[in-house]
Parts: sequence; structure tokens; C-alpha cells
Amino acid sequence: MPLMMSVSGVRGVIGESMTPVLASELGCAFGTYLNGGKVVIGRDSRPSGPMVQSALVAGLLATGCEVIVLDVASTPATALMVLRHKADGGVIITASHNPVIWNGIKFLTSEGLAPPPEQAAKIFDLYHRKAFNLVDVERIKPVLSDPTAAATHVEAALGIVNVPQIAAKRYKAVLDSVNGAGGEEGRLLLEKLGCQVVHMNAEPTGRFAHTPEPTVENLTDLCAVVKREGAAIGFAQDPDADRLAIVDENGRYIGEEYTLALCAKYMFAAHPGPAAANLSTSRMIDDIAAAAGGPCRVYRSAVGEANVVEAMKAHGCAFGGEGNGGIIDPRVAPVRNSLVAMSMVLQLMAQTGKTVGQLADEIPAYVMIKTKAECSKERIAEVLEATRKKYARERINDIDGVRVDFPDGWVHVRGSNTEPIIRIMAEAPTKERAEALIAGVRELM
Ligand code: MG
Repeated sequence: MPLMMSVSGVRGVIGESMTPVLASELGCAFGTYLNGGKVVIGRDSRPSGPMVQSALVAGLLATGCEVIVLDVASTPATALMVLRHKADGGVIITASHNPVIWNGIKFLTSEGLAPPPEQAAKIFDLYHRKAFNLVDVERIKPVLSDPTAAATHVEAALGIVNVPQIAAKRYKAVLDSVNGAGGEEGRLLLEKLGCQVVHMNAEPTGRFAHTPEPTVENLTDLCAVVKREGAAIGFAQDPDADRLAIVDENGRYIGEEYTLALCAKYMFAAHPGPAAANLSTSRMIDDIAAAAGGPCRVYRSAVGEANVVEAMKAHGCAFGGEGNGGIIDPRVAPVRNSLVAMSMVLQLMAQTGKTVGQLADEIPAYVMIKTKAECSKERIAEVLEATRKKYARERINDIDGVRVDFPDGWVHVRGSNTEPIIRIMAEAPTKERAEALIAGVRELM
């Protein structure tokens, strides 16, 4: 498997493309870029994490950086600790929802964000040229460790909700942490929210108990346990705990798109104002904004967490997110956050007195279909142009591929940034209509 490089970092297979040489040279490159500044490092629970971390730390130390190691920490906790330490940058060692053979290195700016493309290009240029600023012995610093990331993160995620109101409900919650980095943080949060917690796959071994992406086919055990335990809700984190999927009180997987929708229901009411979501996120959030009225509306961004955050900043949004179960609340950290999502959904349940299943059923339902096909870069450009032409009379957004909005649905066509693949997604009130929207673009190929 070749190394995947993108603006958000690198990802490779252990023993093949993700090697200690790569990690230490990326550490040297990032340390050189930061001029030997302060760097906070967190990692998910993969067994390869200590190897990658050790090599990366060596590179950072060699370039004079002050390194603060969190060891196992979720992605949002790492981003938060970059802010709390007023660090010059951060690194997260994770391959997110990918299987255990993978690991990845993601850089963060001093704001806890993925570096913008031009900054990422500079870091990779230093890496490719091996233009490292190695310091002399007098400038090599000791490694510091900070064991408070989990507690700090939980405090921050509790700070955005009414803890006594939720705790008074004494909810029973099942948490599936898939043996990832979010287990301790997630459990602590739910306990402080007064929940009776049934914790599945809690140990941060990185030996994922099931395929780690929190999609319906991988969460059959969680659904069964919620039912058996008579729990009020089930939560599933991905291995770096930025994404969250929800199971309702009947053991029904309600889908990752609903995580953002439910949080939006709470946030638009509690903090009326704009929100941001990427172009591929369900229009449920637009319906919820419209129902809330006033200044509530949704700005759409290009796909990618950094783009959502940029749109949030540009429009002064109190929150934002992506349809893959990722809620971003900048009061905690400017990244997707499963703890924030759990807090908000429990708050919504507590203040409405409704079950999560009832709350989900109140939201107008859509059918979303996602397809992809192999397609060369040149062909992708042609298909995008043809789509733009065909639907010239409709509402078009082409900041990232082409999204066409119809009164009753939308279709979004975009090329992959890393592979020769074209993705076509559509959402409509019925499966037939969504399929027809897909077919309308397919016939242009
Ligand atoms: Mg993730």
C-alpha cells in the first residue's frame, strides 16, 4: 500500500509505507517549519502508536522543539490541549476509522486546526528536500508529558450544557468506544452527566472489536446491547473519537447524519444564529434551521473539516459539522468532537423530555444515496461541466465539484482528491427520486 499524502497529513500501512524513518523525517520537517517551537502530540490507541510517536518525537527534538506528549488521547482532546498549552503546533497520530494495519500523522496549527493547503505544502516541501534545521546539543530539550488531556477535555465538553438538568434524568447509556482513544474521555463525560454507563469495547488496545467505522453494519452488537439493557440511548465513537453515531432507545441505528441534525436542533434553539456544514451533508439541517427561524441558517462549505471550520469563522457560526457524525463547537475545540455530540444530544433529550427516537422522528426524513465510480481527472472535469450546463436553471454551488439543489432534493458530484474516482450523491424524500437524481448525472458520463 502506498503512502497517502494530503493536506491533512499522511496515512500508510505499518511495515510498508508508515515507517519510523518517515515519522522521524516528518517530525524534522514539522519542527523545522515551526522553528523549534512547542508541539503537543496525541495518538489513538493503535498498537503501532508508540512506534510512530517515538520516531516523530525524535525528529521534533532534533530540530529543537519543546515536545509535550499526551499519549493516548482523542483527536478533539489533542486539539484542545494545543490551545491550552498555547503550543505552536500539534500532531495527532491516528488513522481514524481505518483498520488496524494503518496509521497516520496529522499536523495541527497553533489554533488546533489542520494547516491550510499552502502551509501544508511548505511542511511537505521541507520533508521532500530533507531541508532540516538540526540543532546542536545545547538546544535539545527534554520531553514533557501531560496526563490531564482526558479530564481537561471532559470539563470543556461539560461546560457547554446544563449538567444538573441532564444528571437529574439518570439516563442509562451504552457507549461503544471500539477499543479506541475515546473510551476514558467518553465514559468520564457520561458519568459526570449522571448516566448509568454500560461501556462496550472500553479498553484502548487498538485491537478494534469490530470494523471501526461507526456505520450501521458495524454496530449490530451496540444495537442489541441497548435493547437488552433497556438503555435510553447508545453511542458509538470511531477510534480517534471525533465522530459519533447514535442508536435510539429501541436499538435502532438512526444514522450518522442524525448526529448533526439532533445537535442542530439543540443549538439553533439555544444559540440562534448561523451554522456551517459541507456540501454533502443532509438537508435535514436546513429544515431545522428554517423551523427555528430568525437568524438561523446554514452556510455550505467544500468537503473537509478544515473547510467547514473556515466557513464557521467567516460567518460567525456557533457550530458546524459534517454528515459523518462530526459536530464542531469552537468553545471546546475547532474539530469534530464525539463528546460535544453526546453532551448536546443528552441536553436536547433532558430539556424536551422526549426520547432520542422521538426526537429523530420529528425531523423530516430523506433518503440519501452515495455512489462512486472510477473516472479519470479529465473525464471528471467534463462531467462537472456537463452537469453545470444541464442544470443551469437550478440553484448551483460549485465551490467543490457541482451541487445542484432542487425544491425537493439535491445531487452533488465531485472528484476525489486522492484517487481517480468520481462521487455522485443525492438526497430526496424518496428512494426513487434520489435514484433519478443520480441517474440524471450518470447519463452525462
Ligand atoms: Mg475519526
